[in-house]
Amino acid sequence: MGQLYGKTALITGSTRGIGLAIAKAFLNEGARVVISSRKSDSVFSVVENLKSEYGEKVMGVPCHVGKVETHSLVFEAIHSKFGAVDILINNAAANPFFGPMMNIEWAAFDKTFEVNIRGVLSLSRIFARQLPVNNNGSIVNVSSIFGIGAAPLQGTYGMTKAALISMSQTLAHEWAPMGIRVNVIAPGLVDTHFAQALTSNETLVKHYTDRAALKRYGQPDEIAGAAVYLASNTASFVTGQVFTIDGGYRCA
Ligand code: NAP
Repeated sequence: MGQLYGKTALITGSTRGIGLAIAKAFLNEGARVVISSRKSDSVFSVVENLKSEYGEKVMGVPCHVGKVETHSLVFEAIHSKFGAVDILINNAAANPFFGPMMNIEWAAFDKTFEVNIRGVLSLSRIFARQLPVNNNGSIVNVSSIFGIGAAPLQGTYGMTKAALISMSQTLAHEWAPMGIRVNVIAPGLVDTHFAQALTSNETLVKHYTDRAALKRYGQPDEIAGAAVYLASNTASFVTGQVFTIDGGYRCA
């Protein structure tokens, strides 16, 4: 049956990387999964691939997290096939600028907050409103170790990831009476398209792996198990928490 049997999960940014790894882990645990990202082509090609293994338990709905005016339509499309959404994984993020805080243009600054904070709050509010009362809803927000400490060369991104932790802790309190738990995963360096600016730079990789207890960076699959746990009823007493998965980078 699986730990997530009978539940429906919307995972933003799930056409590759950490989001896709979470989607596969959720399908393996029996959930119905909504694949989503900005690009329709990517969404439908991932859905076609997954359907051969998981059949009608998977559907795709394109969603640009920064375009809040489209978010109600995303939920309407899901409702027409799967009914209410029980689990929201806010995984997609923007990080358009790599460099010192002194140089970031306001357009890039605003875009980072628009997707990583405004978009996440918008989806979370629609999720909370559409959930039947006391339905054991779960939100998992994907932050970063850059939201816990300094984020050299990724300062604005780090600010949004810190704000995401603060938002999650507040929502954990405000929405507990509605039966919704809100938790955070804070990955360290993970081998994805998003992290290419870091993983393709030997100096930065060495900086990371030298400090990490496990002396390596992670793979997307190594993040997915925590999302399964936090989304499942096994974590019924867990809310407002930050689960760091970084190979021991921050414990040094
Ligand atoms: P990734 O492999 O590049 O995947 C990003 C996904 O998000 C893709 O499906 C992409 O598809 C989608 N996406 C991008 N912008 C979007 C938007 N505005 N609206 C909706 N979908 C969007 O990235 P990843 O490394 O798995 O990152 C996932 C999460 O992990 C992010 O929140 C990131 O901050 C966090 N994280 C990553 C690392 C790391 O080292 N990789 C470390 C810490 C935290 P489209 O292009 O089709 O939209």
